[in-house]
Formats: sequence, C-alpha cells, structure tokens
Amino acid sequence: MKTVIVGSGAGGSMVFDALSGRRDITVLEAGPPLKGCGATDLPAKYYEIIDAGGLEIWQAICQGGSTTVSLGNAVRALEEECRSLGVDITGEMDFLEEVLGVSPVPVEAMGGITRRLYELMEDSGYGPVPMPKFIDFTRCTGCGRCAFGCLSGARWDSRRSLGGRVVHDFRVARVISEGGEVRGVEGFVDGRRVVVEADEVVLSAGALHTPAILQASGVDAGGSLFVDPFVTVGGVLEGAGQDRELPMGFELDGFILSPHSSVFLQGKLEKPLRDIVGLMVKIRDDNQGEVRDGKVTKTLTEGDRERLARGVRAARAVLADMGVEGTAVTQVRGVHQGGTYPLRSGELDTEIEGLYVADASLLPEAPGRPPMLAVMALARKVAKRMLEG
Ligand SMILES: Cc1cc2nc3c(=O)[nH]c(=O)nc-3n(C[C@H](O)[C@H](O)[C@H](O)COP(=O)(O)OP(=O)(O)OC[C@H]3O[C@@H](n4cnc5c(N)ncnc54)[C@H](O)[C@@H]3O)c2cc1C
Ligand code: SF4
Repeated sequence: MKTVIVGSGAGGSMVFDALSGRRDITVLEAGPPLKGCGATDLPAKYYEIIDAGGLEIWQAICQGGSTTVSLGNAVRALEEECRSLGVDITGEMDFLEEVLGVSPVPVEAMGGITRRLYELMEDSGYGPVPMPKFIDFTRCTGCGRCAFGCLSGARWDSRRSLGGRVVHDFRVARVISEGGEVRGVEGFVDGRRVVVEADEVVLSAGALHTPAILQASGVDAGGSLFVDPFVTVGGVLEGAGQDRELPMGFELDGFILSPHSSVFLQGKLEKPLRDIVGLMVKIRDDNQGEVRDGKVTKTLTEGDRERLARGVRAARAVLADMGVEGTAVTQVRGVHQGGTYPLRSGELDTEIEGLYVADASLLPEAPGRPPMLAVMALARKVAKRMLEG
C-alpha cells in the first residue's frame, strides 16, 4: 500500500513512526532539510509569521516543522476532551512519555532567575509545578535558545522519529480523488506541478495549511481556529541573565504564567536582554478564527482579552515582588494553532476514502497548554485506525 504523508512535523512524524515497516511511505515536506541544525542553519530562519488581523501566528516551515523550535514542553492536554468524543489517547500519551523520556525540569537545571520566580510564586500560593519536557537534561546546556533550534541536540524534535524518505521543498496543493477515493496528491517543486500517486494520504501540514489543502480538495474545513494567545510581560533587573536560562521551567495548574525571555522586550524597555526578566502569560482562547481563501483571520474576543489582562496583572505583581522595575508587554502572538478540522464524535476518517488528517487541526478545543503531546497521541491514533483498514 502506497502512503503519502504531507508534512514532517509533530503529527506527520508520529504517523510515519507508527506505520513504518507496514506501508510504503513517502513524506512530502514543503520546507528545506536542516543540515544537522548547525549554527548557520537554525530552524529559526524558516519561521513563517502570519499577520492574522489581531495577532501574529508563528510556525516553522522546514523538516521537522515547529517541533524544531519548540521549548520542549511535553504536557498532557485535552485527554478528557478527546475521550468524551470517543477517542481515548491515554495509552498513546503513556507510550510517548516513556519512549521520548519525558521528565519534569530538575531544580538544578533551572536557572537562578527561574528558581527565584519558582520560590516566590510558591510562597504566594500560585502552586508552580516543574514543566515536563522532552529534553535530555544531561546534555542541556541551559543556553536558553530552544526557540531558535537546539544546538546540543538535548531537546527532541520530530526529525529523530522520521529516519526514512522525506522529500523536501515539495508543497502539496491538493488531494486527488476519484469516485470518493484517494488517488494521490498534486503539488509544486520549484514552481513545477508534480503528481504523486498514492492509495492513502495523511495530511499533517499543520492547522493552517491542512485546511487549505482540504478546501482545495473539496472538503469543508478551516473554521474554529484557536491559537492559545500569549504575551510576555517583562521589566528591568540589571544583570539578571534570564536570556541564558532554560525557558518555561515551570507552569501553573491550568494556567500559563511561566519564565520567558523575549527579544521583543528589548526595544520597549531599551535594555539588553540580559537585564530583563519576563513571564509568559498564555491563555485558552475562544475558537473564533478561520482559514479561508488563503487568508488566516483571528481576532481576540472580549473574553480572551479579559483573560489575558488578568494574567498580565498577575505577572506584573509577581515581577514587582521580585524587585523588577518598569514592566512592558509584548505584542500578542500564537504558536498553538489548531481546531481547523476538529475531532468529531470518534471519527478519524474523512469523507474521502483513504484520506486522513493527523495534526493540530484535529484538536477539539484550545488546550491553553502546550499541545504537542496531544497532537502526537492523536496522530498515532489515526495511524492505528489506518492499520485497521
Ligand atoms: C516557537 C514555538 C515553540 C513551541 N513550543 C512548544 C512546546 O514547547 N510544547 C508544545 O507542546 N508545543 C509547542 N509549540 C507548538 C507545537 O510546535 C505545535 O503545536 C506542533 O508542532 C503542531 O504539530 P503539527 O503536526 O500540526 O504541525 P508542525 O509540527 O508544524 O508540522 C507541519 C509540517 O507541515 C509542513 N507543511 C506545511 N504546509 C505544507 C504543504 N502544503 N506541503 C507539504 N508540507 C507542508 C511544514 O513545513 C511542517 O513541517 C511551539 C510552537 C512554536 C512555533
Ligand atoms: S536550553 Fe539550549 S541546550 Fe537546553 S534544550 Fe534549550 S536549546 Fe537545547
């Protein structure tokens, strides 16, 4: 059976891993390969930044997709929500935690500022919890550069799970079907139209590109987009050095208020990054956004704005307690885009036989927490469904 997987990020890599040896698989990836993630070829070069109206959405278009710029956070999210829709991902999450060596950040791997923030928030009753990560802490240098690409190779990214054939610089435009059955995909390489025949196609191009491919293939998709919007609140503490610490060393239960150094604060505070201490505020947003006619639209609702404002107030109070002065807030961004082909009551198929979706598009609602583990667990579930025939 010939299977094409579109996209080599979190979802695509897991389908590849689960089907390996049982299918003749070709992975088609729009972005370039990364040459071992050396200092001159960091995935941060391949960020696609989308102005969605009210906020920016960021993702990496390269082999490994956004997993190559992730902060390594590996939390369990949306387990109950998926179960209530008839899809139990608990076993897949247990499996992934084990094989990817997920473990909470040890205190000794937290930098000095992270530790001070942790203690302060513990004393103030926030109940911080060390963040579970897929990072090998024996190799992590605490350089703080996860979002640019991990040079030490301490942090997992999906290239490790791919191993096999990945065709780079191949942008899939649509799925070809006949009589309701998949026949292959059509895409572009260097502006040339190319068709790849297949018996099965799995779309794992991410929550913004998968719905565009579905729409071009005659399948309705693209509504109910969420992004988990976030800002970083930061102020001045001379010589803090938070920019050289492992980011997001802890989280709170059900709410993201986590140590984060943001380059966007430098201009606002007119200080070098080493003198700035920041906290990320991230919320679960209403899924009111869409991908339509090649355009992404996402504006914040009044509820979203209120939740963000509450988080900003809490962050400012914590930073003030720590002696951080003159706080500023970054623009709103989102990196957890999902929900554009949401899971529907236990269905892991699409209306075209042999066509599947296995990426963040499937997430049923905004997690308000790092979604990668849920995306990967769902993708493995889709692969199981494919093997059942
Ligand atoms: C800076 C940053 C930090 C993050 N940190 C974390 C974290 O710590 N923990 C966490 O849980 N989540 C994190 N996320 C979110 C996480 O990376 C995503 O939720 C996850 O990667 C989504 O998986 P996916 O398979 O949907 O998309 P991706 O992993 O992005 O994969 C999509 C792939 O499809 C390719 N593609 C796109 N269009 C096409 C096309 N037309 N044809 C062929 N290929 C195509 C892309 O190049 C990409 O390789 C972070 C995201 C960013 C941007
Ligand atoms: S802090 Fe540096 S070494 Fe550690 S996981 Fe992040 S990028 Fe890799």
